[in-house]
Amino acid sequence: MSLAYCYNCGKFTAGDPLFCGTCGRSYDVKLCPRLHRNPRGAEVCSQCGSRDLSTPQPKIPMSWRLLALVVKLGVGLLLFYASLSLLIALVRTPAFQQLLVIFGFLLCGLWYLYSKLPDWLQNFLRSLWKRKENKDE
Ligand SMILES: [Zn+2]
Ligand SMILES: [Zn+2]
Repeated sequence: MSLAYCYNCGKFTAGDPLFCGTCGRSYDVKLCPRLHRNPRGAEVCSQCGSRDLSTPQPKIPMSWRLLALVVKLGVGLLLFYASLSLLIALVRTPAFQQLLVIFGFLLCGLWYLYSKLPDWLQNFLRSLWKRKENKDE
């Protein structure tokens, strides 16, 4: 007994089937309702002209695509890990640490200025208002 393996759903169909028993796709050919065989690239049946062609299974097995995804994910994780270890190595460098400290102070200063900003604006507006009042008097 032969088995046909479906690249789309990864299931076997017994015998020599034209369509997958699970997802209904055809194997590497496009079949019209009269079951004429056409190549993958066909838009219409070459024998009867029907446009109602079946959907063939993918050329690459689903498991391969899954494998490619896993490999991609693995490489991504590896890159992430490499970048992270580079960053950690950089942070451990004395020169970079000094730079970080300076940057930290700078940020603290900016935050302090930012927290004082509303007061400045209020004082500025008040002084403007007072000046205007003084002019009016
Ligand atoms: Zn299938
Ligand atoms: Zn046909």
